[in-house]
Amino acid sequence: MITIEEALRIIDEEGKVIGTERVELTDALNKVLAEDIYSKDTLPPFNKSAMDGYAIKFRDTECCQCGNEIELYVKALVRAGDYYEGTLNSKEAIKIMTGAPVPNGSDAVIQIEKVKENGNKVIISDYIKENTNIIKMGEEIKSGELALEKGKIIRPTEIGFLASLGYSKVVIQKSPKVALITTGDELLDITASLEKGKIRNSNEYSLMALCKNSQVDFISLGVVCDDKEALKKKILKGLKEADIVITSGGVSAGDFDFVENVLEEIGAKINFTSVAIKPGKPVTFATIDNKLFFGLPGNPLSVITTFEEFVKPAIKKMKGYKEVYEEKMLVTAGNDFKAKKDRRKFIYVNIINKGGKYYAYDLGSQCSNHLMTMSKANGIIIMPEGVNKITKGEVVNGRFIFK
Ligand code: AMP
Ligand code: MG
Repeated sequence: MITIEEALRIIDEEGKVIGTERVELTDALNKVLAEDIYSKDTLPPFNKSAMDGYAIKFRDTECCQCGNEIELYVKALVRAGDYYEGTLNSKEAIKIMTGAPVPNGSDAVIQIEKVKENGNKVIISDYIKENTNIIKMGEEIKSGELALEKGKIIRPTEIGFLASLGYSKVVIQKSPKVALITTGDELLDITASLEKGKIRNSNEYSLMALCKNSQVDFISLGVVCDDKEALKKKILKGLKEADIVITSGGVSAGDFDFVENVLEEIGAKINFTSVAIKPGKPVTFATIDNKLFFGLPGNPLSVITTFEEFVKPAIKKMKGYKEVYEEKMLVTAGNDFKAKKDRRKFIYVNIINKGGKYYAYDLGSQCSNHLMTMSKANGIIIMPEGVNKITKGEVVNGRFIFK
């Protein structure tokens, strides 16, 4: 049995990016940019008004410093998308809309709310400084400048920025494809009525949801019964079709747990078969031909915990993310928590923010065979190895789940 840190180190070492592809801009969301982006244009391409108002010469308002008013002649109107060809002279104003080019000769824009309009005259009583409400040409970026660096995660902001630069396609790191396999003779379809000795196959659905949540393409290869040859066939199919293969169940010490056996037979490198984590101890990780194999335990709570803890960072690493782990925070125990001493315990709790501090409250049974407690939880707290109690008021590491 290895520690979580050791398991994560091994997974990190084995997970590699799998190449790049050029995609439509909107398909690049949450992907990692695989090229440096330079601006082909200067933005904004002209001095632009930041307000609806009047383009003026700021010196015309100098007399307002002594409490005087000034009356300017409004000689034109310029709307967004249009431009004024002439030049603004002293004692003149041009009505201007937000986003419109500031006319030649003008060096300030006064907001519409600050003036009095009177026919073709505008009366100003405020002194306006030079460049007020003018967004200068090239203020955002100049032609030839680096706009976005390779390695950046593309968020909605970057999608918008790239669109403004005229990029309709970008080169990104490819996402890995995942194949899901669910094992167990006891599994029924979720639409079936329960029969003696059988349960519904919830893990396949948990795994599909976890993949969706991790924004990764997946195929589910369905259920395979506890038969070594059948399992081998499915795993080989998964390895052919995907970059990451995930199985649920069949990794414990039972007579019909064949995952490890099959991995040996197909010549995979088995990196570990047991991690000091609760829930999720019998998690298996293997590699074969640059592909990753995760044998997750069958217990419904273990499957979700080990996916989040081990598979998710691997997916992120393969997508080219630099930060692959969920951020933890300090949480104060709202009550006592007890558990067994040996492994590191992930305790599903309700985390509440009270006065800027997070408190964790117990939700009952942490049995890894069911999801009832987890469905009430919004977070976890972590009880270290060698510790069997967290006392009310103690500060521990924790985090929200699925946020
Ligand atoms: P295993 O890891 O195969 O020994 O399974 C451990 C426990 O998880 C057993 O109680 C199984 O019945 C249960 N289990 C295994 N696979 C699933 C599944 N796909 N959906 C729900 N429960 C499962
Ligand atoms: Mg099983």
